[in-house]
Amino acid sequence: MLLTSDSNSLPDHGIEHKQNPQYALEEPGPPVLPAGPGQPAIAEPEYLSDCSPKDRPWDEHRSQADDVAAIYSRARSSVWFSRLGERMNLCSPVLEFAWVFEKDDSSVLTPKLQKAYFCRVRHCPVCQWRRSLMWIARFLQALPHVLDEYPKARFLFLTLTLRNVAVNELRGTCAQMGKAWGRLSKRREFAAVLGWLRAVEITRGEDGSAHPHCHTLMMVSGDYFRRPDKYVTHAEWLKAWRESLRLDYDPTVYVEAVTAKRGRPAKGQRTLSGLLNAARETLKYCVKPSDMMADPSWLLELTRQVHNLKFITTGGAFKGVLRENQETDEELTLLGDGVADESPKFYFDWHRPVRRYKRRGGIIQ
Ligand SMILES: [Zn+2]
Repeated sequence: MLLTSDSNSLPDHGIEHKQNPQYALEEPGPPVLPAGPGQPAIAEPEYLSDCSPKDRPWDEHRSQADDVAAIYSRARSSVWFSRLGERMNLCSPVLEFAWVFEKDDSSVLTPKLQKAYFCRVRHCPVCQWRRSLMWIARFLQALPHVLDEYPKARFLFLTLTLRNVAVNELRGTCAQMGKAWGRLSKRREFAAVLGWLRAVEITRGEDGSAHPHCHTLMMVSGDYFRRPDKYVTHAEWLKAWRESLRLDYDPTVYVEAVTAKRGRPAKGQRTLSGLLNAARETLKYCVKPSDMMADPSWLLELTRQVHNLKFITTGGAFKGVLRENQETDEELTLLGDGVADESPKFYFDWHRPVRRYKRRGGIIQ
């Protein structure tokens, strides 16, 4: 049994929401009333999004997974697609939770996911979301060691694009981008880059084309912005990317310093929030779920085209930190140190009719 650090000791039958201060502060949902003689026990919220506001994204992602699975299941062109749909329909149907103490406040109990099953279909919106969170967590875990080694390093966020292509040309275009990245990394412009994360993202053009591009978080030497021989201007990055891609037009390139506050590069005390935002933007997802759902034929062709292509790469001081080929259910659960071995578990089931995770049984215990 878990223990509280205040006077509200937990009843033996379980831990109820009213005893979770965080819940009481953040959750404006259904009223939580003290039980009294002749009164209903407690008006407990029955949905995950009400019980745990931080877990609200589950409903959205699982709902998107239903829509994407339906597209795969309806595709008559291939058994492979219908199997992808079947697998996705079985993704995270039940979420097992337990109460654990908040990492930053050991007097606060919070619901924490303990176990779930993940289908691991590449474009499953649930798995894509969990994968992104897992990679960000791994990046943040590796960051202190890297910063110890390069205490003066600075960071850049570089986005490299090219013109839209037909969706059935994606495979060739992604290969072309991979080769171009290899050429870019050998150029003079790359000399001050100490480490990088790179992710390919594909968005859907309004005309049904595909827009492949890559987001890159790069760590550069501390004197990068001061030394004219090291600093690379936007025009130089653009030229370097154009030449690496061997294009006959200027592609669009965005480059910005990772900043502490808008317009001011982080100095001295390193600001993790800026880095975290850049890491989130880099590692967010490969294909936006709304693009997947906009046009079933676009999704099916994209799925064929990018099958087995690697969309996340790392290099230099960040090489291997994401362990991008390692993902188990446990790792996608993102347990971290929030393991509650002996405390009671409670469950939320995916309810398709209402598209929400709903608590199983009565009072959590
Ligand atoms: Zn999944």
